[in-house]
Amino acid sequence: MLEVRNLRKAFGTHEVLKDISFSMRKGEVVAIIGPSGSGKSTLLRCLNQLESASGGTITIDGLTIHADHRLRRQELMALRRKAGMVFQSFNLFPHMTVLRNISLPQERVLGRSRAEADKRSLALLERVGLVDKAGQYPARCSGGQQQRIAIARALALDPQVMLFDEPTSALDPEVGLEVLAVMKELADAGMTMVVVTHEMHFAETVSDRVLLMADGHILEDGPSKEVMRNPKSERAKRFLHAVL
Ligand code: ADP
Ligand code: MG
Repeated sequence: MLEVRNLRKAFGTHEVLKDISFSMRKGEVVAIIGPSGSGKSTLLRCLNQLESASGGTITIDGLTIHADHRLRRQELMALRRKAGMVFQSFNLFPHMTVLRNISLPQERVLGRSRAEADKRSLALLERVGLVDKAGQYPARCSGGQQQRIAIARALALDPQVMLFDEPTSALDPEVGLEVLAVMKELADAGMTMVVVTHEMHFAETVSDRVLLMADGHILEDGPSKEVMRNPKSERAKRFLHAVL
């Protein structure tokens, strides 16, 4: 479903990703953990081309991007459609209702009619437990509700893989739990997911695999419990000792 080969990314002379390689099967849930500044967000942003890589290749669901080839606009759109992204800040449109926030991208990107889009939006709001908020504006929703709406909005474009960048770190812990619950349901339903998180419990119990990054490298890549309980590298041991 997803394959990253020798991915590199530099900002000027600052090498942020140094030869990153990993792959994922359909339905797999991978958590990415590691100290701040290690390149986790940059990796996710490269996966859906919010950043263009300096080297290497990314393949998502059969579509391959080479860092040294300029993407055509169509390819870029196709790739973005394959990978739905959820950010730490929810980025909902404040001047649109919850329903419009989810329906408009479907109309713009997939060419769905308004009726079709609304139908799908309502089904997704039902799924994240917020169908009663359809007519509200985002400001009237709590942070946890806004993040669940952002998840519904990403799902509405029928992505092959969902990318989450610290989706709960802007939320109170209690509110974060309701977002994690929605993510766990998604995982249980078979969605392929990459989750950058500092929620170690989520990483250990929900994800199939953990990648531990530090300083632009993947230091550990293995089954969640193994990486969390028995890391091989000294750097990973130090990080986990500090956060567990
Ligand atoms: P993480 O998400 O693991 O905290 P990031 O991917 O956000 O790490 O950042 C990794 C490094 O890349 C940091 O040193 C950060 O300052 C740098 N960086 C990230 N984005 C940019 C950018 N747009 N321009 C310059 N440097 C950046
Ligand atoms: Mg980050």
